[in-house]
Amino acid sequence: MASVTFDRATRCFPAMGRPAVDSLDLEIEDGEFMVLLGPSGCGKSTCLRMLAGLEDVDSGSILIGVRDVTHLPPRDRDIAMVFQDYALFPHLSAADNIGFALKIARMAKSRARQRVQYAASVLDIEQYLGRRPGTLAGGEQQRVATGRALVRDPRVYLMDEPLSNLDARLRMETRAQIVRMQHHLGITTVYVTHDQLEAMAVGDRLAVLKDGVLQQVGTPRDIYTHPANTFVGGFVGSPAMNLFRLPLSDDGARLGALDIPLARDTVRAAGAGEIVLGVRPEQFEFLSREDRETPGLDLVVDTVEDTGAVVYLHTTAPSAGERTEVVVRLPGRPTVGKGASLRVAIRAEEVHCFSALTGQRLP
Ligand code: ATP
Repeated sequence: MASVTFDRATRCFPAMGRPAVDSLDLEIEDGEFMVLLGPSGCGKSTCLRMLAGLEDVDSGSILIGVRDVTHLPPRDRDIAMVFQDYALFPHLSAADNIGFALKIARMAKSRARQRVQYAASVLDIEQYLGRRPGTLAGGEQQRVATGRALVRDPRVYLMDEPLSNLDARLRMETRAQIVRMQHHLGITTVYVTHDQLEAMAVGDRLAVLKDGVLQQVGTPRDIYTHPANTFVGGFVGSPAMNLFRLPLSDDGARLGALDIPLARDTVRAAGAGEIVLGVRPEQFEFLSREDRETPGLDLVVDTVEDTGAVVYLHTTAPSAGERTEVVVRLPGRPTVGKGASLRVAIRAEEVHCFSALTGQRLP
């Protein structure tokens, strides 16, 4: 097992106007499950491929443990990788696919069989061991592919969108198995996904990337509760955080009829006539119809999104400007429909404040 260190690691492709990965500094602890998260094209796979030795590092370095692996070929890095496309051998049984690397390494047959058996039991695929990949469902094939990495005893596991070809239910099941396996083995894992819910569910910590630049590293909870900037605030969380760009006065901001008092330090740090306030859908407080005393924001419901467990209302706030859209989480069951009006309050101390100039979080 080992830690992983990216030290100003950079990768440039001539056709791009900017580095695909720009001076990445990231420390992954021994045994940690680290997720690289970001939208398509942000450079996640390139980071993983640099760590695997499948992509050159143009400047900076990469360490596994204390060993500088920047210029080592993949086979000398002691890593095992699970790809999005499973690339199983069609003519071999699941067991032979899983044990393939052990055979190449000339491991004694009985020991190899034990390892395959163990991987299959962790991944719950013992019943499929005798079957060929073509006779297995996507999720089963995925688990065989994961097993192939698992039987090895690498210092680091690398996983690039390993669940992207699975349907929603299998994705949940398989990701739970991967997490269980990783916790059990305690092997440092770097996992790439663009799915923020998946990232939150599996990662000990997340590293959020945008345009090749690291935006924030932290536990899922840190990142959800203290996003470093408007990009992270908007990207992590579903539905996304509401972001309001508002004029700033000496003591706060105003959203429709709602005054949002802000700390003096925040107003000073904003350094502009505007501020961006972030409010998550669950951070609104619903005011009763009778309560006309408490200052509130009037909303008109456009659509109701009922996910079963939770209901979100997509609304507009006419008093805050015609096009101000607000997504709020309705406590309880859907009791309102399209066109309904309601009033909400916002607890000022829970609002996320960002600079209107840089998008960075303000104190
Ligand atoms: P996705 O989630 O879509 O796989 P990603 O975040 O993993 O995206 P990368 O695959 O790392 O992104 O690509 C980062 C950027 O580098 C993209 O703009 C991509 O087009 C570019 N890129 C990647 N590989 C090459 C290459 N071999 N040649 C030129 N450009 C490349």
